[in-house]
Amino acid sequence: MPAKPAWPPKSLPRLFVGGPLGPGISLELGGGQANYLGNVMRLKSGDEVLLFDGASGEWLARVADVGKKRIILSVERKSREQEPVPDCWLAFAPVKRSQTDWLVEKATELGAARLIPVMTRRTVAERVKLDRLEAIAIEAAEQCGRTLLPEIAEPLPLARFLERRDAGRSLYFADEGGGEPAAAAFVPGPAVILTGPEGGFTDDERASVRAAANAVPISLGPRILRAETAALAALAAWMSAVGDWR
Ligand code: SAM
Repeated sequence: MPAKPAWPPKSLPRLFVGGPLGPGISLELGGGQANYLGNVMRLKSGDEVLLFDGASGEWLARVADVGKKRIILSVERKSREQEPVPDCWLAFAPVKRSQTDWLVEKATELGAARLIPVMTRRTVAERVKLDRLEAIAIEAAEQCGRTLLPEIAEPLPLARFLERRDAGRSLYFADEGGGEPAAAAFVPGPAVILTGPEGGFTDDERASVRAAANAVPISLGPRILRAETAALAALAAWMSAVGDWR
């Protein structure tokens, strides 16, 4: 659920709901969503809410009824079409839980289309909780205005990630050992950015990624960035060079 806004809020509350949405549809929300709209945002009958289902754009709905533990909304009209999302995936070695949460939140804001946890030799995180990452991505999408959620893929060992990838998608490999400066390396077209764990890639791993078809080692400057900083910096650089920031 989005954080409590400054009071009074300047924008309408915005929530992801299971679809499909359409004019005239009535929705009953319970649990955290009802608590957020009724108790945190203090909505009353007749107040407006924005909804999105990840597939059909954004919809204006009105509160029809507020109960103690549930709220009923009536969808009125489409307020925005579904936005196109640049075709950039982020494959990252998961780090500690709070940093991975932060990475997923920020990558969603930055516009990543797909997030792929990639397990490398030096990855410390043993388990990745996909439902937790999905909840974080939903909350970030609610706040930043996305209508399409990023897809969160099942974690893959690095070797499997390399085997399965489509060679038509450029693989930008953030290599702390050196590569082409990121801003100059990116070309328009489908992309996946790969970043390593806190301990970096092993020499073998670096060699196997460099040998993959259409792989471009990139440098993110002269400083060694933390793993989550590197992932987000590379994504921001891609968005700025060939994504939707232009
Ligand atoms: N332990 C490694 C070392 O000391 O060289 C540093 C690993 S770094 C904390 C984690 C990941 O971020 C790296 O595997 C790489 O993907 C990325 N990274 C960090 N700084 C980078 C840079 N300046 N250029 C390219 N990639 C970088």
